[in-house]
Amino acid sequence: MKCLNCDTEFEGNFCPECGQSAKTGRFTMKFILQNLTTAILGRDGGVWFTLKNLFSRPGAMIVEILSGKRKKYFSPFPMLFFALTLYILVTSATTGFMLQEAFSQSDTVFTEESEEIDSQSIEVYHLLKNTVFFFINHYTLCFLLTLPLFVIAARACYGRDNRKKYYWAEYIITIVYALVIVVLFRCLTKLTYLFDHDLALSLGFTLAPLVMIVACTACSRKMLGFSIAKTAWRSFLLVLLYSLMLFGLLLIGAILFALIVLNGKGDINIQLG
Ligand SMILES: [Zn+2]
Repeated sequence: MKCLNCDTEFEGNFCPECGQSAKTGRFTMKFILQNLTTAILGRDGGVWFTLKNLFSRPGAMIVEILSGKRKKYFSPFPMLFFALTLYILVTSATTGFMLQEAFSQSDTVFTEESEEIDSQSIEVYHLLKNTVFFFINHYTLCFLLTLPLFVIAARACYGRDNRKKYYWAEYIITIVYALVIVVLFRCLTKLTYLFDHDLALSLGFTLAPLVMIVACTACSRKMLGFSIAKTAWRSFLLVLLYSLMLFGLLLIGAILFALIVLNGKGDINIQLG
């Protein structure tokens, strides 16, 4: 028999070179349905099984994965893309309104007509507002781009012994699984927006950092070998450090944007599209 994938001649059920099944035939609807169901519901590497473990025993799952039990679980990055896709689907309708609502109060304070506030403060306000809008409107992109910041913060906060013990990549795997929890939580807050606006806003803006801390604590505790309290404290520092780095970068970005793009147009007058 000749392998359809790599042309190796062999006998048996699987190609010894590349592992492709000898029974590889043409695509059928049955094959596609089976493939989808195993990917989602299958026990061996299925999305559902992985999610169940991620929420019921995250620390133990991460340790298993790091020590080599990989096939049981859906891979971290596809898992994160899956969660982000879900987020995009849930969010496409609600984000704009949610942001307008969140800023509606401060907008009435910082208007061109108000006499107490000078024009420079209004410009700074709009600059900050636009930065937040950009970040949230491009959440998935920013989220993926800032992943390195999160990993740097994790390595810095989770102690010298663990920096020696684990590779960078092992921190990345842990953080990506933790972020899956964070993104799924964000999906939930976006869904609550459909029912209760105030609840969704307070969930989105106040609980989000807390969920990050909880997710990082849950995912990394077993791997780090710390107590829950110590892991939670270090995770708090992690999120603080990440936020500071992110805020710094966004601020630099906003200032550069204002200097380069808007100076070309004469005076600084940022309007939101
Ligand atoms: Zn082959």
